Amino acid sequence: MSINADDLREFIEEELARNTTHHKWRGKGIPIRRTSWYTNAHRSDIQEIGKKYGCHTCLSKLHKDRDQPWVGDHIPPTSLSKNLRLTLSVDLNPTVLFPQCHDCSSRQASLIKGLNAMRAGDALKFLNNNPDEKCFILGVRDPIPGNCVSSSGPKVTSNEGQEIQKIGSKQGCHTCNGKVPARTYHADHSFPKEFCTPYMESVFDKLGLLYPIDFDLKPQCPRCSSNQGGSVSWVAQLAKEFAREQKVPVYKW
Ligand SMILES: [Zn+2]
Ligand SMILES: [Zn+2]
Repeated sequence: MSINADDLREFIEEELARNTTHHKWRGKGIPIRRTSWYTNAHRSDIQEIGKKYGCHTCLSKLHKDRDQPWVGDHIPPTSLSKNLRLTLSVDLNPTVLFPQCHDCSSRQASLIKGLNAMRAGDALKFLNNNPDEKCFILGVRDPIPGNCVSSSGPKVTSNEGQEIQKIGSKQGCHTCNGKVPARTYHADHSFPKEFCTPYMESVFDKLGLLYPIDFDLKPQCPRCSSNQGGSVSWVAQLAKEFAREQKVPVYKW
């Protein structure tokens, strides 16, 4: 089935419109080359710009935004290996979810990864010698109605996520008591990185769309970033098929 050029143009225009910068955003993006990936230096520059000017899409400043996405943290942790759960007498029935901030969540994930890689005896010894770490993975708040959500399985469902969001905005992170869930801005390609390919430039040309000359990164909050994802890769895929039909060489790089 061939792809209609008008439809594709509309889809691409919609994606580009979704990516526009708020007219009140006063920061400046960081110029990058089309093909380059961002580096740690870019990432830290993005944090500086974000702290000063906020998210380029919604202007939110993370250090005072309680309504960024909270992580639903399983207590006891469902990601502990079975072996370790037996050694620590951890019973997953019942499991509850507490709201957790991104920093605590990633610190916890790497701690659990490390523990799972140890022999169970060594992991137990480590936890007994490090009560703070033990509290960290097993939780400190007693689960009472209103401060947690009962969990239906290892994956946080959308209903559970919404409940966690409400509790998190009110009560903060159950691990560090922090009141904001996220402190790190995402580095957002103002022009979608899925469109940064040579065949896309030809597709734009064939559709009569203007392909940008300059590319940059801007700080974006996690909430806007997760709203954005969805359809862009689907549109890029459609454009790729269109390019093939039009005999535009399509290759990876
Ligand atoms: Zn935002
Ligand atoms: Zn925290």
